[in-house]
Amino acid sequence: MFDKILIANRGEIALRVIRACREMGIRSVAVHSTADADAMHVRLADEAVCIGPAPASQSYLSVPAIISACEITGAEAIHPGYGFLSENAAFVQVVEDHGLTFIGPSAEHIRTMGDKITAKETMEALGVPCVPGSQGGVASLDEARQVAAEIGYPVLIKATAGGGGRGMKLARTESDLAHAWSTARAEAKAAFGNDEVYLEKYLGQPRHIEIQVFGDGRGGAVHLGERDCSLQRRHQKVWEEAPGPAIDAATRAEIGRTCAEAVGRIGYRGAGTIEFLYENGEFYFIEMNTRLQVEHPVTEAIFGVDLVREQIRVAQGQALSFAQDELLLNGHAIEVRINAEKLPTFSPSPGRVGTYHAPGGLGVRMDSALYSGYVIPPYYDSLIGKLIVHGRDRAEALARLRRALVELVVEGVDTTVPLFHALLDEPDIHAGAYDIHWLEGWLEDMAAA
Ligand code: ADP
Repeated sequence: MFDKILIANRGEIALRVIRACREMGIRSVAVHSTADADAMHVRLADEAVCIGPAPASQSYLSVPAIISACEITGAEAIHPGYGFLSENAAFVQVVEDHGLTFIGPSAEHIRTMGDKITAKETMEALGVPCVPGSQGGVASLDEARQVAAEIGYPVLIKATAGGGGRGMKLARTESDLAHAWSTARAEAKAAFGNDEVYLEKYLGQPRHIEIQVFGDGRGGAVHLGERDCSLQRRHQKVWEEAPGPAIDAATRAEIGRTCAEAVGRIGYRGAGTIEFLYENGEFYFIEMNTRLQVEHPVTEAIFGVDLVREQIRVAQGQALSFAQDELLLNGHAIEVRINAEKLPTFSPSPGRVGTYHAPGGLGVRMDSALYSGYVIPPYYDSLIGKLIVHGRDRAEALARLRRALVELVVEGVDTTVPLFHALLDEPDIHAGAYDIHWLEGWLEDMAAA
């Protein structure tokens, strides 16, 4: 059993891990940059170590600084949160080489899923349905033309090293292909130092449905249903729900079983998310995230489990605390991401927070590292909180979201709260009738009005 865990992250996710540690009787170590000396995770952890200056490259991404912090404090394990080093296979290797435990999957599984072509090939071989496209990488424009003609336009050119929607270009017709091909490769080269690309059929009206899986590292695995994260802006999720408004129990059971079996067969350890596009009743794998997701609380709400606790248990070599047939779905949960951003441009709005008041009451959870007087630094992600509501059904969750948003007070900085008030006035939102393009279209209509 671990006595002490170091959390290689900041903000609300660092708090999330500290909370799980404290409930399990494990001491926590926060690391922070000089810009985060007054951050809530530093105050709430049992110990804190400053690991460098404000830029993440010199602090939260500094492997030597993080390993040294473990050695100084005697932490035995590292929880990476999401982002930063959470999907960095080389980091996991260094952690293990130092005799420390990485709370997450093996370096090998992270590497496999981090390369999109390899991930797709692996999933296809495991029986997971994929988007029609090229077999592996596409080496030339001629080959791209051939593949596109076979699968039919429109097609997407995607970077195998891709992430955050970069290195992805749409070709609606053959005349777009040469341009999409060269810009996707150039963008991939610049962003990831790897210009390998592949082709996929472009789906016009899909929903984003992702399956939460959990492996014990010994071949056992379960699924915890899906999350619908279709409401996105620039490929960034804005609003997530579980269960998905478009998924019924039989569909959930079938895709869930396929995913759990797939990760069980590779001996996957810890939390993972298998992301799909879902259109006309069919699932199409797009990628697997080998870490805890930002939106994990909606799954926790409907299944009544603590996913961080399970990550720590599995990393300690313990079994999962639930079997598949013990995971019973209860009610409906919605998460909205509160960002310090100014609407309608979504430009970052860092600065001093005046009064902060978190909503509460039945079925409301606010995961945030804010406090009154906190100064949001300009160096990091603009996510300042996640508001999660849980109701007996979707209608109750929506009503609860509206009332919790009314209670929430964040003064001094601009936030995305007005966006959610406006969305709650939309019939399509109440009907659950939206695909991955809905929000962008709605924002364009708003800007034009
Ligand atoms: P990244 O890792 O860069 O975020 P993903 O493969 O996860 O890339 O895709 C990001 C988003 O791009 C998806 O959520 C979806 O909105 C869109 N997308 C990806 N593949 C397709 C596709 N084949 N057809 C239509 N949209 C897609």
